[in-house]
Amino acid sequence: MPYCIYLRKSRADTEAEQRGEGETLARHEKALTSFAKQSELEVTAIYREIISGETIAARPQMQKLLSEVSQGLWDGVIVMDVDRLARGNSIDQGIISQTFLYANTKIITPTKTYDPANEFDEEYFEFGLFMSRREYKAINRRLQRGRTASIREGKYVSNKPPYGYERVRLKNNKGFTLAIVPEKAEIVRNIFQWYTQGIRQSDGTYKRLGTSLIARELNSRHLISSQGNVWTAQTIRDMLINPTYIGKLRWNWRPMKKRMVNGQVITERPRNNDLLLTDGMHESIIDEITFRTAGELMAKNKKRPVRGDQAVQNPLSGLVICQKCGRTMQRRPDTKNPALLICAAPTCDNHASYLHLVEQRILETVSHWSEGYLLKYHSETNLADASILQAEMTALQKTEEKLNRQLSKVFEAFETGIYDAAAFQTRHSVLKEQIEEIRQKQQNLQQSVDKNTESQMILSQLIPKIQSVASSYSQAASIQEKNNLLREIIHHIDYLKEVKGHGHEEEFIIIVHPNLPRLSSLPTT
Ligand SMILES: [Zn+2]
Repeated sequence: MPYCIYLRKSRADTEAEQRGEGETLARHEKALTSFAKQSELEVTAIYREIISGETIAARPQMQKLLSEVSQGLWDGVIVMDVDRLARGNSIDQGIISQTFLYANTKIITPTKTYDPANEFDEEYFEFGLFMSRREYKAINRRLQRGRTASIREGKYVSNKPPYGYERVRLKNNKGFTLAIVPEKAEIVRNIFQWYTQGIRQSDGTYKRLGTSLIARELNSRHLISSQGNVWTAQTIRDMLINPTYIGKLRWNWRPMKKRMVNGQVITERPRNNDLLLTDGMHESIIDEITFRTAGELMAKNKKRPVRGDQAVQNPLSGLVICQKCGRTMQRRPDTKNPALLICAAPTCDNHASYLHLVEQRILETVSHWSEGYLLKYHSETNLADASILQAEMTALQKTEEKLNRQLSKVFEAFETGIYDAAAFQTRHSVLKEQIEEIRQKQQNLQQSVDKNTESQMILSQLIPKIQSVASSYSQAASIQEKNNLLREIIHHIDYLKEVKGHGHEEEFIIIVHPNLPRLSSLPTT
């Protein structure tokens, strides 16, 4: 019965290879092949796991091996050590030990053979895997503890120094710290100054720059960012909150988090709020007051809506139509005066208005709607009960059928000679006239039915909507929300202003077209 060899590198192997200890898999292959020869085990396949994945899902050779083991293809699998099969993941260890157990497949290492058929060995085997998992966890913990201890001592443990610093080895000591790179540190100081106080203008005044403008400024000076490419607003934001610049060290800020998705390990780096902050051995570039100011400004800035987004700033966005040229009117912000509502067409002579005045007028119009509609639709006589209208309709249909029957009898009488041509003509035209009259009545009745349906919809849908919009508009959470509310009840607004100048601000005309429920969307009865 055949045996196979399974080869996989461990993390320690990878590190040993970096020290120049030679290629691990080749070394293990040689060792296991000669071991198999000595033990007289017939090896017919060798699996080489090139990828050192932590899970079965990340190890294609292991997947293949397990599938073959479960089919009973192998008497035994030869490995350097049990933990080559599974390490660090208890679910995978369970899968592997169960597979070997049920298939009665041996695991053979140069020092010991694990035989699932042997009760004692089964325990030993599971224990072996368990031990390797515990050991793995202990190594990880030791590693983390070592790093945390280094940070507490003020050493810099990350590989990448922040912009403005370089990593230097500590003299007579293990580990690294940071040293200032003067010309880059000057850029860091500039960034903090531009953000907190501003950049000096030609007239001697200072103008504060946002993170995007700072990135643009640095790119225009052809400076290379810490990532070795262009500056982005995000790079600047990260720098402005990096406590390394005030001589601190942060740890656990964005720790790697691994989670399983469809059998794959996904690595994430979410921001952590309870980060560890300690004093570093390195010199600061920024003073604490400037750093705190930057942090406060950044927190404030977050709440500001994105610039240049019309839908967010204009409650009338997409609703007001220029009556002169048919274009959609736009909001134009002004630094000194309230924002305007303008027709952006250069050749159009429709005058602009203050946006808030137009908005106010629209709301006044809308607030009068509900009473107007209520009056109109309640007072109209066509607001009859639908069943009465239906009964009338049925009666008209019956009359029409009766008239049609009479008409066919007239034809019969003419054909059988009872009516002569003249009598037929008279009788026929009278009936035809009556039928036409009935059809006219039916059409009128249908119009009443439609109007009735429309009234019902306006009363039951539009009016409650108008009332709710009118009452909730002023408390809307955002401008976008206000725009949504208006769109619910307004189809569009025609706008016209023929005069301009001081004192004529309110002299614009608007026609607000309601967003009527569409009849065509109703199910027909
Ligand atoms: Zn226009």
